[in-house]
Amino acid sequence: MKALVYTQPQEVQLQDRPLPQAAAGEVVLRIEAVGICGSDLHAWHGHDPRRKPGLVLGHEFVGTIAESAASGFAVGARYTGNPLITCGVCEYCVQGRNNLCAHRTMVGMTRPGAFAEYMSIPAASLIAMPQDLSARTAALTEPAATAWHALNLTTRHLVRPLHECRVLVIGGGAIGMLTALLLRHLGVHRVTLAELNPLRRAAVEQHAHCQTVDPRTTPLAESSFDVVIDAVGAKPTRTQALAAVKPGGTIMHVGLQDWASEIDMRKLTLAEITLLGTYTYTTADLRATVDALAQGVFGDLSWVEERTLQEGQQAFLDLDQGRCASAKVVLRP
Ligand SMILES: [Zn+2]
Ligand SMILES: [Zn+2]
Repeated sequence: MKALVYTQPQEVQLQDRPLPQAAAGEVVLRIEAVGICGSDLHAWHGHDPRRKPGLVLGHEFVGTIAESAASGFAVGARYTGNPLITCGVCEYCVQGRNNLCAHRTMVGMTRPGAFAEYMSIPAASLIAMPQDLSARTAALTEPAATAWHALNLTTRHLVRPLHECRVLVIGGGAIGMLTALLLRHLGVHRVTLAELNPLRRAAVEQHAHCQTVDPRTTPLAESSFDVVIDAVGAKPTRTQALAAVKPGGTIMHVGLQDWASEIDMRKLTLAEITLLGTYTYTTADLRATVDALAQGVFGDLSWVEERTLQEGQQAFLDLDQGRCASAKVVLRP
């Protein structure tokens, strides 16, 4: 089969790989579509020590079962999956918070990913996908579930309903865009999205119908947002988030570009700011997101770009250079 292999920093190459086999309890999926994630781009840069050359990346997939070694999972059935392979029995799994599973491994990291014609995966990770959902939409499940989970956690900490809040989203990448779309769907009228790339700002305005700003030319008003979603997660955006949040407000830290920074603990303390972290999604979030996508909650997703697997390297280059208006490219093997 053809697979897009990460060969060295800033290079993925189409190579022939042996067909994966379904081990007991697993299936082999014929991949229909797979999205390029920010974390794939991070790995492509050589910045992720867990993702080493020789690996097939990709964890935002939809496919049909080509081979099954798991009862109840028939050849031809269509699925996406939780790329986090979890144990099902640890403290977090039994709480329904399997994104925090103490023994989790991951597709496209600790095992070959979906930038390929075929991929094996434990059947326990599969999530049924309606036949009539387009492959491109179906492949958006994982990033959309990340936004879904982040807003679920945020709303639990709010004093007033989310739709009353003035919300700032920092970053117009796929997670920022999907978060803005979901906020608008949830009836939040005052959503501002800060993004440096003018192509992405235009895409967000067109599809999510919210106000956008270039924070380099229009500084964000201080202490003026009830909720700030940081979908970048870098030193300067954390500083912006804390400056922009209102007293009593909530910051949700979703992106993770770099790890360390000094933050204004004085404001955090005296202004009773709630600072939250979020990691991926639970299986329940993924299932709810499939349903939401099928109901059109995230809109028509026409901003998502489709390319062939062969065009993978160019897609990585274009995403890296910010040449795509689309923050999400989906590859079709
Ligand atoms: Zn992803
Ligand atoms: Zn577990």
